Amino acid sequence: MKVVTIIGARPQFIKSGAVSRSFIEFNNTRPPETIDEVIVHTGQHYDSNMSDVFFEQMDIPKPAYQLDINGLGHGAMTGQMLEAIEKVLLEEKPDWVMVYGDTNSTLAGALAASKLHIKIAHIEAGLRSFNMRMPEEVNRILTDRVSTVLFCPTDSAVQNLENEGYNDLDIAIAKNGDVMMDASLMFSAFAKAPKESIPAAFVLTTVHRAENTDDPARLRAIFKALNTISKDTPVVLPLHPRTKSFIAKYDIEIGEQLHCIDPVGYVEMLYLLKNCSLVLTDSGGLQKEAYFFEKYCLTLRDETEWVELIDNGFNQLVGANFDVIMKAFNDVNTKKSDFSLDLYGNGEASKKIIEGLLKYK
Ligand code: UDP
Repeated sequence: MKVVTIIGARPQFIKSGAVSRSFIEFNNTRPPETIDEVIVHTGQHYDSNMSDVFFEQMDIPKPAYQLDINGLGHGAMTGQMLEAIEKVLLEEKPDWVMVYGDTNSTLAGALAASKLHIKIAHIEAGLRSFNMRMPEEVNRILTDRVSTVLFCPTDSAVQNLENEGYNDLDIAIAKNGDVMMDASLMFSAFAKAPKESIPAAFVLTTVHRAENTDDPARLRAIFKALNTISKDTPVVLPLHPRTKSFIAKYDIEIGEQLHCIDPVGYVEMLYLLKNCSLVLTDSGGLQKEAYFFEKYCLTLRDETEWVELIDNGFNQLVGANFDVIMKAFNDVNTKKSDFSLDLYGNGEASKKIIEGLLKYK
């Protein structure tokens, strides 16, 4: 069986890292059946600390194709990817195209495959923010609709698809747990401190989502809160390149005590997650990882796809409003949570995905 995997952005390297590892394990343990994975890197993220480091640390097989498509608007980026991926698929003639999450690379991969009648596996399917202004929401809805199998990480993802009438469509829905949970279990033992010195107790924060970076009022409010918090409590912020350029563009002040560091690799991120006291983020992946490492999370967004974290009291939406963020931060110590619920599976999601590929082939 041949699978073409389309990836291009940081969270996709991490998710596919877990699945690639399971493909290799499958090939080692299940002969004569084998899965030949051909990786296509669209180039959406290209800095070495946003891309190469994950291939090295997670031992992800080298991409067979590097499309080098980046630095473009949504239309040009998705269009160029669509054209280039179609060429790859015509050449490789895979049984499956595997796409992850909700980026332009996901949509371009799914569209190219659907027009060529190649089966599509969408990993992290069924998630919804119900905010159609988010490019991610558009990408994930369209990708789900043209897929062959929707591999859902959570009950709420399955429920979203059922609400949209997917039971009446010729599309398989599988609930398998979250591949990010697999990745964190696979690599947790390799956690390593970043090269920068990190305080003993700290709040871990990341900011990169377009709705925050592209809106000067929201970005200013977030940094005002981070600067204020960091006067009393150390805050470590691995700074996304996109956020860095918007901070410069809007001339936003970074407080002297805010520990801004370069984006870190996955094993360094696992170290930060293990050692922080709280997570403050607008990242999708980090909200779940906070839960994996039993840390409470304040989410710098107005909605989240990971509703089970909110419903069970592990996460709180604080938007990008200074007063709301500060109030939530000051109240947070009083909250206690039992993190033992099985919300994202037990680290077997990638194995279940492989079984799904065999079942629907
Ligand atoms: N991450 C990382 N280094 C960083 C920041 C994030 O390895 O400096 C990891 C993080 O642990 C998570 C993933 O990148 O696994 C999340 O990616 P991101 O926040 O860019 O995207 P999102 O999850 O919001 O789609």
